[in-house]
Amino acid sequence: MNNHSVSSVLVVLAVALGLSVTAVPSNTKAKMSHSTDATKVVKRDSQRGSVSSLNSPATGSASVTPASKRWKSTTVTYKISSGSSYYTNIWKNAVKKWNAGGVVNLVPTSGKPDISLSTCNSSLSNSGTVGITYSTYYNGSKMNNLQVMASAKSYIYRNVSKKFKYSKAERTNVAEHELGHALGLQHNVGKASVMYYATRDRSVSKPDIKGLQESYR
Ligand SMILES: [Zn+2]
Repeated sequence: MNNHSVSSVLVVLAVALGLSVTAVPSNTKAKMSHSTDATKVVKRDSQRGSVSSLNSPATGSASVTPASKRWKSTTVTYKISSGSSYYTNIWKNAVKKWNAGGVVNLVPTSGKPDISLSTCNSSLSNSGTVGITYSTYYNGSKMNNLQVMASAKSYIYRNVSKKFKYSKAERTNVAEHELGHALGLQHNVGKASVMYYATRDRSVSKPDIKGLQESYR
């Protein structure tokens, strides 16, 4: 196995475990780090098989969703590039949910966005991951003891959503979860939070808004 294959395997493994991947990119101008966050598939009772017991690190109380990163400003730009009105609508609804919390103001841009919202097909449709967010943050600079984000790209895996028969509302919940990562939030230990590692039927809730209030104060 060459180095590239080895690192690819390690990233896939880390994503499967729900771990944050931190690596120094080789082709970067500013000093930045990368991280990856994913949403676990939750299978319906009618679909045989059990939910993986693998969990990602989630700390703190369920009443406030923890954060590891934040944007410098509470105004954060986004661009939806899904190619379908179905998914554009899903992302728009997810944006509305976070904006309704009154902490951050996500605004659309036609230029280079802070957060890019999209869909793709997972090359591992059995991986148990239905959504994923890749982000970068500046090394060294911190606000409220949180890393300051430089970019984020969130995806919903269309093939995985379809395979596990996610409804439009459930895909919107996945979109909200990924957008939560794109805003710097981590997993919440409680199932009431949209940031529970394996969310399916939960939407943005009080702990999630409190998490934003804490990190964007
Ligand atoms: Zn997640």
